Amino acid sequence: MQSISDFYTRLTDPKKVVITTHQKPDGDAMGSSLGLYHFLTGLGHFVTVISPTNWASFLKWMPGADKVVDFELSKEVASKTLQEADLLFCLDFNVLHRTKNMEPVLAALTCTKILIDHHEQPQVDYFDYGISNTAKSSTCEMVFDLIVNSGHDDKINVEIAQSLYTGIMTDTGSFRFPSTNADVFRAVARLKDTGFNHTLVHESIYDSFLENRIRFIGHALLNRMEVLYEYNTAIMTITKNDLLRFQIKTGDTEGLVNHLLTIQGIKVGALVIDRDEERRWSFRSKGSFDVNTFARTHFNGGGHFNAAGGHTDDSLDATVWNFKKVIKQYEEQLQHA
Ligand code: 5GP
Ligand code: MN
Repeated sequence: MQSISDFYTRLTDPKKVVITTHQKPDGDAMGSSLGLYHFLTGLGHFVTVISPTNWASFLKWMPGADKVVDFELSKEVASKTLQEADLLFCLDFNVLHRTKNMEPVLAALTCTKILIDHHEQPQVDYFDYGISNTAKSSTCEMVFDLIVNSGHDDKINVEIAQSLYTGIMTDTGSFRFPSTNADVFRAVARLKDTGFNHTLVHESIYDSFLENRIRFIGHALLNRMEVLYEYNTAIMTITKNDLLRFQIKTGDTEGLVNHLLTIQGIKVGALVIDRDEERRWSFRSKGSFDVNTFARTHFNGGGHFNAAGGHTDDSLDATVWNFKKVIKQYEEQLQHA
């Protein structure tokens, strides 16, 4: 994989471009894809954003979101667009299996592939150019860097600003995580220069849920949470029936795991959801406990040091039992984390 800076001179040469991201895109995945979409469209490229799956309704207001192609809904058109592309940008993921059913289509492409991502352990052999930097707050910050470092600061408009701000805001937990350094605030200040309304972005993302979702959170906190004080860990187990009862849709469980870390002294939060195809884990930590390694070692997953995910084919009861067994191994470390 060559450095992304080696690609800058080719940015002004109009091409057929596809931008893609991970399944069930979150604010950073959608924000970086749309930010790059507006930037490259402005440079004269023919750009399509393809998401491997559907996305949360709280992202539907984003500028250009209505033009994003859902691979699962439009498999043939999306595959054809991918096969005809000159350039493929892969944003906010770094291993092909994160694109679910799109993986075999991506694996067969021969076009130039560019990675922009901040997760651990990228599959570098797939990409021709790219940047992988785990110190970055968000992929949106990295798209901002690409625009500025390639000499196109003057192209930053309101649509780009709304898109990139969204992902920086969501991936930094609204500017609270340690990755929120001075560069992040400088990038946000530059985006704010466009005059976009950041209050509206916050409200569109965080104050746009239906009643059922907040009642579901109440139910989950009251009935589905277990605090394992001996490991400074809290765990939440969501059953299939919970998902049905509260009519949970894509995005409704986003952020749920963070509630676990609001308990005094809790260093690890673990949420497992009984999805149709798998039991899906989300891990969050504070301080020195590395959930990326934990997810990789025990739950077929990965992510970042303090935020990771994983999955298993085990039953819900079996995977929870397994979690309690493996967390025991870290008792000593967690008491001092
Ligand atoms: P979440 O818990 O929000 O689904 O994921 C937390 C972080 O870990 C996100 O940055 C996400 O991209 C990453 N992640 C989630 N699941 C997996 C996985 O199965 N493999 C890898 N490599 N990363 C994951
Ligand atoms: Mn991200």
